[in-house]
Amino acid sequence: MKLNRRRFLETGLVVSGLGLTNTVSAQDDDRYRPGGPWAPNEQAVNYSGYLNNEELGKRLQRIDKRSDRITLEQIGESAGRGDPIWEVTVGDGDENVHIINQIHGDEPTGAEAMVKILQTLANGSGPTIDAILDELTITIIPRVNPDGANFVGDDGLGTDGELRQRRYNTTEWEDGDSQYINTNSYAYDLETPGYDLNRGFSIDPEFTPGDEDEDWWTVEDEAENLATLNMPVDEVPLELKDGDPYEALWSVGLNLNPETQAVTESFLEADPDWAITHHHQGPTIDPESGDQGGPEWQSIMSVMAPFGPSYVGLDGVDYRSYVGQGNPFLSVDAQTRSLQLSGLVADQMEQFGHGRFNTITRYGYGPLWGSYLDALCPQTDAAGALYEVSHQSDDRGHKARGTMVKVTVEGIMASFERIADGSIHDVDEMSYFDIPLSEGIENPHDDR
Ligand SMILES: [Zn+2]
Repeated sequence: MKLNRRRFLETGLVVSGLGLTNTVSAQDDDRYRPGGPWAPNEQAVNYSGYLNNEELGKRLQRIDKRSDRITLEQIGESAGRGDPIWEVTVGDGDENVHIINQIHGDEPTGAEAMVKILQTLANGSGPTIDAILDELTITIIPRVNPDGANFVGDDGLGTDGELRQRRYNTTEWEDGDSQYINTNSYAYDLETPGYDLNRGFSIDPEFTPGDEDEDWWTVEDEAENLATLNMPVDEVPLELKDGDPYEALWSVGLNLNPETQAVTESFLEADPDWAITHHHQGPTIDPESGDQGGPEWQSIMSVMAPFGPSYVGLDGVDYRSYVGQGNPFLSVDAQTRSLQLSGLVADQMEQFGHGRFNTITRYGYGPLWGSYLDALCPQTDAAGALYEVSHQSDDRGHKARGTMVKVTVEGIMASFERIADGSIHDVDEMSYFDIPLSEGIENPHDDR
């Protein structure tokens, strides 16, 4: 069951039935294109296909050395292995873009895509590259979670001593770190200790565990120190820009890991207008892909934009209402640009015609107050986008690696181009809601 619990993390809302997304039976998973028969997990995972921490560092250093357009800096080190957390900056324009990848260690293709993008920006030529470098300042953290990316140890999979990838970092909660372990929304893995770093951000970047009132905590289990930290809105050091829908934000992060602290500092220093976070999700299908006959296609990627009460209230807007009324700390302008930033990805993939790349779906949005998007975008009123390419690395991974990298490179490069030439503002933001909501499908190997 441990494996199931872990597997369902990214898709947990889907599987629990609370979301907008339906889960269809995988009994005849062969019918999905590209799809069955699914590769057995043990054959699907080939970690040598991914850059390990040392290789990633060397690759970034080589790009930096050969190009005067690139600035490479180590901004921190991981909690367990002490491996570097790298930040790369390129361009010297007025529009600032911040991108993070692999905050979940088993979601590796963003880091691979960033290497390709950086090579293009470091060495490429032509009017598009020139415009991007002139108009944008791009800050990229290729791999936020080196400990999860290069995990070696007992993760309950019988692979102790072998390199694998896992979602969490490896920080073990200790008395004194905070009054309680923040356990809601998978913030902490009790079985194989470590934090979900994308539940660990604080909407108050100055927040220090222990400063909070005792009654901000909702105690779930006193003996085990399990609780959820809920911050009263009047303690949030931000202006409400779109309504006043909450009294408290639930399950805010503690910001006690070096990885989230490094990302927060990087973000505030970059002062972004645009922010993108790259993830992987479980297997999903594009529900509209069967309309022209034949089996449905698996969705290559879902996109998600944060938005607030102004859009939540519109007719026809699908929304995960059980997580409230959206993010009221983002201006309506930033919300609109968020919808445009995600919407343009579906536009971009239409050039590939009917088939595998043109299967962009939408990931139902609801705020997670410990996440990069919901906690950090309001700090600078940045528009945000979440990319969720399909399949975690220990799920189907290597078999689909090339396509996941390609769709990410396409989406990000199109975003750079359209921010640089201003045409991102021509995207009809409501077209985002026309992207079909993804439907989850069960991985037949979940019960391994
Ligand atoms: Zn993720």
